[in-house]
Order: sequence, then C-alpha cells, then structure tokens
Amino acid sequence: MSVIPELLAANERYAASFTAGGLPPAPARRVAVLTCMDARMDPAKFLGLGDGDANVLRNAGGRVHPDVIRSLVVSYELLGTRELVVVHHTDCGMLGLSNAYMRGRLRARGVDAGRIDFLPFDDLDQSVRDDVDALRASPLIAGDTRIVGLVYDVHSGRLRQVV
Ligand SMILES: [Zn+2]
Repeated sequence: MSVIPELLAANERYAASFTAGGLPPAPARRVAVLTCMDARMDPAKFLGLGDGDANVLRNAGGRVHPDVIRSLVVSYELLGTRELVVVHHTDCGMLGLSNAYMRGRLRARGVDAGRIDFLPFDDLDQSVRDDVDALRASPLIAGDTRIVGLVYDVHSGRLRQVV
C-alpha cells in the first residue's frame, strides 16, 4: 500500500483553491530556518510562517553540514535572508545515536557507509551551540547574519532559546 495517491489527491484539493501564485522567491521576512526533519514539527506552524516568508532547510537533526552551508549562501546572496534560526528538538532521533550504530545498520544489508558522519549528538543544548558556532565560524556565512539557536519541545510545542 502506498500513501502517494492520497498525497496527489490532497494536492488536487490544495491547488483548486491556491492563491499564492504571485509570491516572489525571496523570503518576505528575510529569515532562514534550519531544523530537523522530524514529522512532529512544522516550522510554518510553530514559528507562524506563511507562504513566501522563509527559507526552511531540514535534515536529520537540523545539523550544519556542507550542503546546509551551500543553501544558506544561496539564501543570503540571492534571496536576501539576514537572520538565521537553528532549531533542534527534544526526543530527537539523532540524540544518543552513534555513527557506529548507523554504519552497522547499513553493513547488515551489505552496504558500506564509508566515512559518512550521520551527525548524531549526546547533548541537545550543546548540539545547538555547536551548530551555531559552526555557522559563525564559517567564512561563507556573512558576518551580518543574526543567528539564534533554539530547542523545540515536541510535548509542549514551545521554543526555548539556547544561543
Ligand atoms: Zn530530530
């Protein structure tokens, strides 16, 4: 069973009343958000963002890695974002995970994960500080970018500022 037909049917309903076709590509609120792919979190909802408001980057853990830097450079240089919000969250699947475990999972199905760093972490607040520090240390991230680091509580829906 696939969920994809349901998704496509939902899109038909969505497009039938779609009104945001005139928006420009540059985020109106000049902000980029980096957060986890966790299905319980919807940045548009918990940050009050509408269509066209922000560039939202998501990956496992909401971690900084070269492709995130790549996207943030495009966001700053071409789309005019000047603030950056990093959001990690409680009960994250990357919390307490290890590269050894992930590599073992892949080995069990005959795949060599090579040197991939899955960017797991053991301390939630520290992971936020580490990623904000990594962004501030990157020469590719412009010095006038305002960066905040937050933790989202998946049980309360509330944000807490760490950096
Ligand atoms: Zn997560």
